[in-house]
Amino acid sequence: MLQGYLSAADIIAALQIMCWPDADREMKQHFCAAAIPEGRGQSLMKMTFPHMGTAHVGVKTILEQLGHEVVMPPRVSSETVNLGAKYSPETACFPLKITLGNFLQVLQEHPDTEAVLMVGGAGPCRLGYYFRTQQDILADLGYDDLEWVVIEPPQGNFREMLERLKGLAKGCSLLDIISALRLGWRKMVAMDELIRAAHRVRPREVRRGSTSHLLRTAASEIEAASELGAVEEVHQSMHKRMQGLIGKGESRDVVRIAMVGEIYLTLEPGANLHVEEALGHMGAEIQRTIMITDWVRDNVLLDFLPWNNRGEDKKEAAKPYLNHFVGGEGQDSVGSTALLADEVDGVVHLMPFTCMPEIVAQSVMPEVIHDFDIPVLTLVFDEHTARAGMLTRLEAFVDLLRRRRVRDRHSPAS
Ligand code: SF4
Repeated sequence: MLQGYLSAADIIAALQIMCWPDADREMKQHFCAAAIPEGRGQSLMKMTFPHMGTAHVGVKTILEQLGHEVVMPPRVSSETVNLGAKYSPETACFPLKITLGNFLQVLQEHPDTEAVLMVGGAGPCRLGYYFRTQQDILADLGYDDLEWVVIEPPQGNFREMLERLKGLAKGCSLLDIISALRLGWRKMVAMDELIRAAHRVRPREVRRGSTSHLLRTAASEIEAASELGAVEEVHQSMHKRMQGLIGKGESRDVVRIAMVGEIYLTLEPGANLHVEEALGHMGAEIQRTIMITDWVRDNVLLDFLPWNNRGEDKKEAAKPYLNHFVGGEGQDSVGSTALLADEVDGVVHLMPFTCMPEIVAQSVMPEVIHDFDIPVLTLVFDEHTARAGMLTRLEAFVDLLRRRRVRDRHSPAS
């Protein structure tokens, strides 16, 4: 089930081959140090980080295994969105507002939180400015002594990435780090596998809502698992139970929809108003083009390998319409739409309001739609987006896809 992903041996080999032989003395001493710094007990820092789909299941484990105390914010809700929007610049990206809202929810409940973990970026979009903006906003609100740990894609420099991560692994041996990464990674892979399975099961489930319920149970059980065997056990049993939810629904005529768009919005159900679940209940099987483990594997773990040709197929497919990187997932949204046009009935394109890469993607979509004869529904999200309006548009879109199916079945060519 977990084959095809990085094993612990892969990670160890990568660390040894790519980094360890060249690591300088100071770095080796740091990563091999066995003692936790005096006076901190077992907990190095009281930390938090914002939700992004099920990524917390692995990230929380990694941080806790490295000795940190992790305070998770509540799941993203309208309160999170309203709180973040209240203190953010109006034209800021929607994910910036939501992640700020998550930080504020934690800091209001736990003012003794010492550090926040955030992702950074290297352009050309605004992701690289997120944490600076949030840092300033939180400082203005009185949270000016927070330590910011910013993880950025290594862009080929694996050693630099390890340097950046040093602050998170104080007092840990290399073995501690590898075992923390391995357990966290397995949890994320297991969750992604179950999410993929849920995409297939949900439109066929006999009892409405049972797939989502099982997925939530799986997330909490996998999060609680303390070793690899337990993760695998929960994963296997949940996968089996999920298949059992189909029953007589196997023969249902479902429409297939590819989900493309900006990564945060695509992964976080609280941000996209649970669009995947809504489509599943309307009888649509989702093919999501971004999963968190795929992104981490391609952009972090394998980014330093010269033969890593991540996303080349999408870039190639996007070329006639958009032949260069525009930041975020803009080029991937176009490439994925072209690549999957023959496999799905339609495409839902998710974009945060003011997202530059997705605006570029949206501007070339009409050509892709024309060339591949594929319906694309673009949904733009911000703090004013209402679920009722989104559901109406989704229902109309699914209806359109069903009618096209009927038309194609009865056309002379078919
Ligand atoms: S991809 Fe879009 S939403 Fe995400 S940081 Fe860049 S501009 Fe903002």
